[in-house]
Amino acid sequence: MAKEFSVAQKQRLTELNADEASVARRFDDVKERDRAFRSMEKELIEANKDALFALRDGSRRPIQLEIETKLVKWLTEEAGFTQVVTPIMLSREMLAKMTISEDHPLFEQVFWLDQKKCLRPMLAPNLYDEMRSLQKIWGNPVRIFEVGPCFRKESQGARHLNEFTMLNCVELGGVKDGEQMAKLKEMAVSAMAALGIDDYELVGDDSVVYGSEQTLDVLIDGMEVASGAYGPHFLDDQWGIFDPWIGFGFGIERLAMTTKKYRNIKRVGRSLQYLNGARLNI
Ligand code: ATP
Ligand code: MG
Repeated sequence: MAKEFSVAQKQRLTELNADEASVARRFDDVKERDRAFRSMEKELIEANKDALFALRDGSRRPIQLEIETKLVKWLTEEAGFTQVVTPIMLSREMLAKMTISEDHPLFEQVFWLDQKKCLRPMLAPNLYDEMRSLQKIWGNPVRIFEVGPCFRKESQGARHLNEFTMLNCVELGGVKDGEQMAKLKEMAVSAMAALGIDDYELVGDDSVVYGSEQTLDVLIDGMEVASGAYGPHFLDDQWGIFDPWIGFGFGIERLAMTTKKYRNIKRVGRSLQYLNGARLNI
């Protein structure tokens, strides 16, 4: 009977970034299988070491940071957006203003620090607040973005991290009412061009926060890498926002993962096991 790799062998090969077909190989007997495992493991260890040497001797920055930099350059140097820096700790009130309170699906995913403060699951509340302050000073349009850690309790899986990096850009008062979706599409196209990605899909989607028909997702190989939304929106009033706006949230690790064709997002997340997609404890 044909033998496949043991569970432990499959896990080890997958950690070392073996491709799916190699992990699914079958052998006539256990001896042959174990011999193949040892030789594959040896090769993969060398490949992982080479990747870490290449990082030290080459770009010196992991892929997710390179992606972040490309988007930051596009936003600041071409698209006229200004970077802002806001707190990672978020108050219960700010979250409630996004309608994320006890009965909301996202509420269960929130990491609470104490009764009043949590780790932000998204950048939107801070950006709403900051764009209203800046609109009073700058007038229209206000174009700002932030990139930084967000936290959600996820049931894990290969596409979700508990701590991930979101880049969220918003433009307030720079788009005519009725033209938001067209402008969102334009933004998605130029973001993908800035990243050198041409194989993607744009799909209208339901959003748990913003509702349906007002969102646009960017999908790569069927996986959501970014979500766009626009207003006027029913949440706007309580933030003191009255003009049309558009916004996009990009998942930096999702973009890194698809760029490198990794099957698991852990490879490009904050980690002590992986760096730049390579396994560290080899
Ligand atoms: P999903 O449906 O895939 O869980 P989402 O629609 O809840 O994602 P958004 O709130 O739209 O996510 O966040 C914007 C982007 O942030 C997503 O398009 C995705 O790229 C990224 N993102 C969201 N949650 C995570 C996570 N737990 N780990 C990594 N990236 C994430
Ligand atoms: Mg989404």
